[in-house]
Amino acid sequence: MGSYKAAKATASQTGMDISVLSVENYLADGHTPMMAQYHSLKAAHPDCLLFYRMGDFYEMFYEDAEIAARTLDITLTKRGKSNGDDIAMCGVPYHSYGPYLAKLIRAGYKVAICEQTETPEEAKIRTKAEGKPASKSLVNRDVVRIVTQGTLTEDELLDAKSNNYLAAIGRSRDGAMALAWVELSTGAFSVQCTDNKSVISALSALNPSEILMQSEPAAPQNQNALQGFQDHNSALFTALPPSLFDSENALQFLKNTFQLGTLEALGEFSKAEISAAGALAHYIHRTQKGKIPYLERPKQVISTAIMQIDAATRRSLELTQTMIGERKGSLLDAIDRTLTNAGGRLLQNHLASPATNLTVIQARFERIAALLDEPDLHRDLANHLKATPDVERAIARLTAGRGGPRDLVMIRDGLVQSELIRAALQSNLRGKEAFHNELGALTQKPEIAALQDTLKIALHDTAPMLARDGGFIARGFNAQLDNFKMLRDESRRLIAGLQAKYQADTCLDKLKISFNNVLGYFIEVSAKNANGLMAQSKDAASPYIHRQTMANVVRFTTGELAELERDITQAADKSLALELEIFENLRALITENAEHLGQIARSIAHIDVCSSHATLARDEDYSRPTLDNSIGFSIQGGRHPVVEQSLKRAALDFVPNNTDLGEGQRLWLLTGPNMAGKSTFLRQNALIAILAQIGSYVPAASARIGLIDKVFSRVGASDDLARGQSTFMVEMVETAAILNQATERSLVILDEIGRGTATFDGLSIAWACVEYLHEASKSRCLFATHYHELTSLASKLGNLSCHSMDVKEWKGDIVFLHSVKSGAADRSYGIHVAKLAGIPAPVLQRAQQVLAQLEQGGNSGKASRSLADDMPLFSAAMASTPSLSEAANAEIIERLEQLDPDSLTPRDALDLLYALKKSLKSS
Ligand code: ATP
Repeated sequence: MGSYKAAKATASQTGMDISVLSVENYLADGHTPMMAQYHSLKAAHPDCLLFYRMGDFYEMFYEDAEIAARTLDITLTKRGKSNGDDIAMCGVPYHSYGPYLAKLIRAGYKVAICEQTETPEEAKIRTKAEGKPASKSLVNRDVVRIVTQGTLTEDELLDAKSNNYLAAIGRSRDGAMALAWVELSTGAFSVQCTDNKSVISALSALNPSEILMQSEPAAPQNQNALQGFQDHNSALFTALPPSLFDSENALQFLKNTFQLGTLEALGEFSKAEISAAGALAHYIHRTQKGKIPYLERPKQVISTAIMQIDAATRRSLELTQTMIGERKGSLLDAIDRTLTNAGGRLLQNHLASPATNLTVIQARFERIAALLDEPDLHRDLANHLKATPDVERAIARLTAGRGGPRDLVMIRDGLVQSELIRAALQSNLRGKEAFHNELGALTQKPEIAALQDTLKIALHDTAPMLARDGGFIARGFNAQLDNFKMLRDESRRLIAGLQAKYQADTCLDKLKISFNNVLGYFIEVSAKNANGLMAQSKDAASPYIHRQTMANVVRFTTGELAELERDITQAADKSLALELEIFENLRALITENAEHLGQIARSIAHIDVCSSHATLARDEDYSRPTLDNSIGFSIQGGRHPVVEQSLKRAALDFVPNNTDLGEGQRLWLLTGPNMAGKSTFLRQNALIAILAQIGSYVPAASARIGLIDKVFSRVGASDDLARGQSTFMVEMVETAAILNQATERSLVILDEIGRGTATFDGLSIAWACVEYLHEASKSRCLFATHYHELTSLASKLGNLSCHSMDVKEWKGDIVFLHSVKSGAADRSYGIHVAKLAGIPAPVLQRAQQVLAQLEQGGNSGKASRSLADDMPLFSAAMASTPSLSEAANAEIIERLEQLDPDSLTPRDALDLLYALKKSLKSS
């Protein structure tokens, strides 16, 4: 379930284009009325697990029950039989279904929530009116919402700092393609033209949790690519009927959704964009059953305004998650200093699509600079941001009819903080200039100010999550509500007052007013004191009315007590009903102002991201890069943002390095042993470029970067084992993508390309790639290789420059200096590294022999072919060599050579003899 294949398999049964059988059909089939109702609802939602509400439980039946029992680890029971077979059943409690729902959604299922849409009393009346016996009444039920991965809005089902996108791939008849995506929990809605080549890269930037696509006719061109995308992604694929993607239908749907006569007001949308956005809007309607959360009008994203980073590069650079899928260890994790959830999500967005617009990027730098120059302002903002709740998601829940009082409180508190943030920026000259745009959005319209005042006086400081229990409207907001509450809450005081009055009236000190569920409130006197009151109650003018005589006590009531009781019991109901009404009014007020509230929330998120960058720059010593339209790339003292922080935690220093891919050295060929820091150096340059273009300061002493249109990063097959599918084929497919797409404005990072095949094959491929990148793509490129032969290209290719990782040999071992020096590595250190790794001494020794032979014979194919003939086999070689002794005894020989026998005393000579014999033994 949930896979691309499964989505295709269930494409024809998504419940929108099949004729659903009615309850009568199932009754005629011999089902009980309830099961007939169940079957008809289930048939309308075949791709969902149906949560069928029965009393305090959501029950599931048949296969749904089996799946749920298995996934949730709950007991599977039975309920009656169907055509002789037991009906499997299991249920989750209505009051605490959240965690169960979350588990099913995470496992890739969709859940249709079916509620009772009338009370049993209403059902009885309806059944009677239909001329059927009331005893046969069955409450009406309907699906009120379909919960899917991409349509969640609940905090407990979402990661606070991650976006949860629902995407749709649209197509027009002429084959043009577009992507639309929405974040239902915030209302952000975007569309972008794309094509078969770039759709996967755009999807991987978004990382949507659910992808809608057209079922039939399938789009064959991108099927394989989508399949590939899914191998690295847990997105749920949902196939929908082609009619929903039809641009005419889609246009109509969008116009209805946004209540527009024409879409042109929003910009020029292509047919493919309309197809994608319309299908998306339709799906939202279908899953939310008409209760649409606030949706922004679709914004067009122009792909050239975004730095292109394809899926493989994202993975290889570990931008938002590591190779093993964790946030910890990713670039995002290292740079995220945001203080609000919305800020965290926006930062993730920026990282997914760095900008290519100089003005946008410069404006972000300006804001960071302002905060760094004004630490007091930065500190004040940070304090306000910390106290800012997640207003975006609260608005989405409230507008979708799923919000509660706590969401109102969040909006109230968010508005208070937005005012404080505005005031802080306004009162600071630098802040005022740099955050000019945000200040505009934060300035409250009169309606918002009025809303803020209302929320301030309407709500308690804290509020429950759900409105259904009441208790969230503050005293003083509504006089009638206060009265109801007074009656309810002060019932004790009123009853005590009445009791005192009756005691005085009857001169019975022991008279008391009690309560039980059968009689409600009553006056109680002991049997021996009751005679007077009993007699009095017979008098029609007396207020006391006899209710009950027990063995020891006699019970009375009065009209006044009955009235008070009515008031008290009704007060609780009335107070709750009134509170719910007030809640609805406030909710409507939020819906009316959703757009402006959304703008405020977004501006705060932007401020938070700038504040995060400023904190990072201050704490990690980052500097402001210089960006321009050149094709230069010059980094002084560059560092790897993630490795640097992890070394810092271990109290180790990162060695900074310089890079210059300017004129005459556009392509750097980097050699050096494994573990010397090649990969780190390569990646740090790509990360610095990406950081600069998201508008962040960078981990370098200084950086000058000509705007980059695309970043590519590839790691050779043998180096990319973490992916578990390091086949040479994948490596070549990915390399092909780079060679086909990289431009003069691109930055290309290639790490050990060609290693996954035979030496000469690999060398030739790497060779040809270097030539092509140098001659045809002309991209700025860092190419790390262990093929030293490639360095000879330097004499031929004018823009190729050789560099190597510096190492030092010390007492036969190597020490990695982690610094990049110009010139090729003079030799290979593989065997040294093998030694460091603990390869057994005999193997090392043998490797030395083979190496010596190879070097003697030259590195030609002939030499290596005849190598096996020329070389004795391992065991023979070992036998013919005076064993390990040669290496181990080298030390003894050295000592003997250094010995001056004439200067030895007889005692020294004897000692030495013993020592030599001992070390001989131990070798
Ligand atoms: P291989 O070819 O085996 O992948 P490599 O040459 O690419 O090796 P890296 O993986 O980049 O080496 O680096 C190895 C380790 O060296 C890193 O995990 C890091 O801890 C350390 N290192 C790399 N660069 C630096 C640096 N500039 N300063 C300090 N330590 C570094």
